[in-house]
Amino acid sequence: GGPVIIVGAGHGGYQVAASLRQAGFSDRVCLINDEAHLPYQRPPLSKAYIKGSAGPESLMFRPEKFYQDQKIELIGGRAVSIDRAGHKVHLASGETLPYGHLVLATGARNRLLDLPNANLPDVKYLRILDDSEALRQIMPSKSRVVVIGAGFIGLEFAATARIKGLEVDVLELAPRVMARAVTAEVSEYFQARHREAGIRIHLGVQATSIEAEGGKVTGVSLSDGRHLPADLVVVGVGVLPNIELAAEAGLAVAAGIIVDEYLSTSDPDISAIGDCALFASPRFGGSQRLESVQNATDHARCLAARLTGDRKAYDSHPWFWSDQGDDKLQMAGLTTGYDRVVLRGDPAKKAFSAFCYKGDRLLGIESVNRAGDHMFGRRLFGLERSITPEQAADEGFDLKSALA
Ligand code: FAD
Repeated sequence: GGPVIIVGAGHGGYQVAASLRQAGFSDRVCLINDEAHLPYQRPPLSKAYIKGSAGPESLMFRPEKFYQDQKIELIGGRAVSIDRAGHKVHLASGETLPYGHLVLATGARNRLLDLPNANLPDVKYLRILDDSEALRQIMPSKSRVVVIGAGFIGLEFAATARIKGLEVDVLELAPRVMARAVTAEVSEYFQARHREAGIRIHLGVQATSIEAEGGKVTGVSLSDGRHLPADLVVVGVGVLPNIELAAEAGLAVAAGIIVDEYLSTSDPDISAIGDCALFASPRFGGSQRLESVQNATDHARCLAARLTGDRKAYDSHPWFWSDQGDDKLQMAGLTTGYDRVVLRGDPAKKAFSAFCYKGDRLLGIESVNRAGDHMFGRRLFGLERSITPEQAADEGFDLKSALA
């Protein structure tokens, strides 16, 4: 019993608060928010928000009145330490909040580029609304951007920047884009599409320095000796989970805050969810740390259920999406360890799915402009069913029959 204090008001933190109230939780709920905005959706920051002109309100999950009506106390500021013995959280403001249960939903922060000039104002990152807002403000005065990192965020931004009329170069150390996350078939499709749009993608290279004159970026030098002119650099080289608050309180951490399959830390009165949580996964084996809206929201719902008496292990099926220019990538399942890829549909027709198998077991589906296949995959996994590689490859095979 007692108040639930939630540290971090991103996707996970917001959802725990909302789900607790939905489940009838009646004690105090506080959401500690270190960003100067009402809780908002992050995905549009590298996509629609940069492209458009809608204000920050367009991103908010709920208006302020929702929090008042639901008695969710939004508390501005940062949590700086946890007194586990006293069941209290200390905020930077000096305020102290007693908790019955503490939820760490601290998310992740950008991995910073360790290069000279990387801290100049023309070198930008994308994680929070203020980052996206700053980019939107300066882009009209920029003509050439070098994007460092061809992960989801780098490519989403690159596509948007190109649509906005900038010259765009993308640097990637791996031999293909999104290499850690998607199959070679999907990487190749997106490489071709971005190149068609006029984006120059450089694979197998690294930025070795950022050049500047009078505090203004003039270009980027590459590990292969080339130099690319630029007046803007956008960095998307991955994130680091925010584990320090947990670590300093003596909680078990590794590449994330370690939680069991119930999302409980090594202290039963403290849980961790979302991007910061390294969770035990009976389904996938070992531990997982995922960075997705699905993961943060489903963690939040699972935890809110536990805190209101419905204790179940976390066992949701992962899914994800990325919008890049006119193409929509959607993924269902986790493809780690696949040994066979079967295509359904045709990359040349700009609509296909890559079904990833380990032996005969379907691990995941990556769909490009095939929303139907993606929804099929999510329903199939939800039913704990599979289809054979032959069925997946055969467009004559009616997917619905596998769900009946
Ligand atoms: P976050 O949403 O990061 O929230 C954590 C919050 O905690 C932050 O506000 C942080 O400032 C705050 N915080 C940290 N420490 C403290 C502290 N000590 N005190 C108080 N507050 C603190 N996912 C998808 O599935 N699809 C997409 O298309 C997609 N696009 C994305 C695009 C961008 C640009 C970014 C950055 C992410 C995208 N993601 C996408 C990932 C998704 O947004 C994250 O996985 C999700 O936000 C994780 O939610 P979270 O609650 O764990 O962390």
